[in-house]
Amino acid sequence: MSDSSISKLNCALANSRSVLIVCGAGTSAESGVPTFRGTTRSWWSGLLGYPILLVFGTPWGWEWLPWLVWPLFRIFMRRTMRRAEPNAFHELAVRLHDAGKDVLVVTQNIDGLFQRAGLPPQNVIEQHGTVQTNICSRCLKPVDGDAYCGACGGWPRPAALLFGDRWFPEADITPALKMSHDTVVIIAGLSGMVSSADPILNARIGRRDGAHVFNINPLPNRYDGPRIECIRMGCAEVAKKINL
Ligand code: NAD
Repeated sequence: MSDSSISKLNCALANSRSVLIVCGAGTSAESGVPTFRGTTRSWWSGLLGYPILLVFGTPWGWEWLPWLVWPLFRIFMRRTMRRAEPNAFHELAVRLHDAGKDVLVVTQNIDGLFQRAGLPPQNVIEQHGTVQTNICSRCLKPVDGDAYCGACGGWPRPAALLFGDRWFPEADITPALKMSHDTVVIIAGLSGMVSSADPILNARIGRRDGAHVFNINPLPNRYDGPRIECIRMGCAEVAKKINL
């Protein structure tokens, strides 16, 4: 099943002029960055998961417990993401781009691994922001490095979307909606429990006029469905089988 699906993906990519990659935490799993849900044990697993999520995953922790959150975030999460190396899936996006295809990545990831693999920043839409830069946890204005806010003196926090946030990254998805009707769509490493990608996928999968849609994920997920080619494997593993 996967072998024939991978042949179809190879064929679709070879014949495509444009590729839209809509992806989530799973694309970085094989780089060693734990996913939120799915195959890996992570910072959020086990009994401590919910308290950790409450503190790191909401604006509340960053505003009221910065002395606790900052050192742990630096040591565990940000260091893991900064030390992670792009994997074969990130590199596939670059190979497609270098082969002259119009490649657009829309990602929920905040680790910057597609750009570090060499994909130009203008080809990546970061729907949930990034851990590479910070904003003020109080007035939400951009701040320099890890410094306190120059405007209000508030603590910094990552410019990444948190649960219950009142700040949203500027992520214009219009280019994804405007891609040609025969664009190959790859959904990768996305559980679908966070619905940021839905406006794009509803528009593209709903239309499906000639488009090929592939869903790469070792586990069943919300994007499985008729006329979508499901590849039940890790995305780096799949990317290694793509010959351009
Ligand atoms: P998720 O954690 O909810 O789901 C991850 C999905 O990836 C699961 O469906 C899982 O089965 C799949 N997966 C696991 N290993 C895979 C692999 N090797 N190849 C392909 N798929 C694999 O992720 P989400 O849907 O992106 O939403 C979670 C939220 O957590 C997002 O807001 C995201 O920003 C954030 N997050 C980001 C990172 C990151 O930047 N690397 C890491 C963890 C969480």
